[in-house]
Amino acid sequence: MICWKCKEDIGEFDNYCRYCGAGQGKHISFYYKPWGVWLLYLFIGPFALYFVLRSPVIGKAAKWVNSLLMVLFFCWFCYSFTVAVKNIMDTYTQLLSGDMDFILKNAGMFSGQGFMIQ
Ligand SMILES: [Zn+2]
Repeated sequence: MICWKCKEDIGEFDNYCRYCGAGQGKHISFYYKPWGVWLLYLFIGPFALYFVLRSPVIGKAAKWVNSLLMVLFFCWFCYSFTVAVKNIMDTYTQLLSGDMDFILKNAGMFSGQGFMIQ
């Protein structure tokens, strides 16, 4: 039998590789199994992709789908971050420019709602 991880020749009934220690067959670590990968996505987010790509039990198609989803997630995250920063910058630019209409309209936002406009 060939170890899936280090490709060394190991015994037919070995549960763990005698060269690299990787579990074989039913003894593969949980973070390489599909349900373990879901758990990892929950706790370490996009970094779980590392284990998906190294897993010997997850198929090639599933690896492509996972990679694609992570790329899409990354694009969405960058886009959202850019929009959020732009909104904050716009607000400060308007505040610093002394635009009184803007300041009075948003007075509640800047004073914690404790400011009454007559
Ligand atoms: Zn090995």
